[in-house]
Amino acid sequence: MNPIPVIGRFAPSPTGDLHFGSLVCAVGSFLEAKSAGGKWLLRIEDIDPPREVAGSASRIIRDLQRLGMEADDPVLYQSNRLDAYQQALDRLLEDGLAYPCACSRKDLPASGIYPGTCREGIRAGRAPRSIRFRVNHSCIFSDGIQGEVSDLPADSSGDFVIRRADGLFAYQLAVVVDDHFQGVTQVVRGADLLDSTSRQICLQKALGFDAPDYLHLPVVLSGDGKKLSKRLRADPVIHQDPVVSITKALQFLGQQPPDGCSLETLWQWALKHWDKRQVPARRALSPTAMKA
Ligand code: GLU
Repeated sequence: MNPIPVIGRFAPSPTGDLHFGSLVCAVGSFLEAKSAGGKWLLRIEDIDPPREVAGSASRIIRDLQRLGMEADDPVLYQSNRLDAYQQALDRLLEDGLAYPCACSRKDLPASGIYPGTCREGIRAGRAPRSIRFRVNHSCIFSDGIQGEVSDLPADSSGDFVIRRADGLFAYQLAVVVDDHFQGVTQVVRGADLLDSTSRQICLQKALGFDAPDYLHLPVVLSGDGKKLSKRLRADPVIHQDPVVSITKALQFLGQQPPDGCSLETLWQWALKHWDKRQVPARRALSPTAMKA
């Protein structure tokens, strides 16, 4: 029997340009897949038009190429996959694993954990707004970097939204449908998404999909201790020399790249020497603290 091919992916939302934090995720996912002889895919998660920044999807793709990371298959755009999300949603509804909910944010307790108000049906006189997934099981998983994680969606989110009140599909549903559709076997991304993973594993179980391996990299913190983010307009990597950018990303990931080589030689080195065990098992890290 042939072994299952390794497939990794980088799945940015087009909410701004590639910055050092997203570059670290791109480099980590690329090396984990490619150093195992696998494929690396690129998926643009453009299902939230209000948050989208015009032109950023094509700039992200261009910047990745310029930095030496080219996807093995054509780029998948989530905006072309709405039918697949609808089908998954219909299945969950038919199986009684999802239900309409009439609550708005102001109906939720301060904890933000959904108390199950509409679980057994919407009260008379109220109209459905969103669709929620019925969380029935606990979920403990072993993360390839962070170790054992026992996040129980029932405790951290309760039944969660899979179609939003504005009619848009929620990230949790779209990501699960597409990781399965693209045959993804490993998800390497920032530890800011660690809390989403148990929700995604619950959805995978409900839809009969295999769970990929998960590796959550430390989130890059800026000098003032905040997560670098596209929304906060972190400095785009395009303003830096590609060799400097990739060298810094590798160092952040605990690797020890050689100095003074070309981009091509740097990638050859990285593919040969990538060692995920060197990645700090931290949820967040500032690049300056790392050197100390
Ligand atoms: N689209 C998400 C983001 O840019 C990442 C999704 C994922 O890697 O699962 O934050």
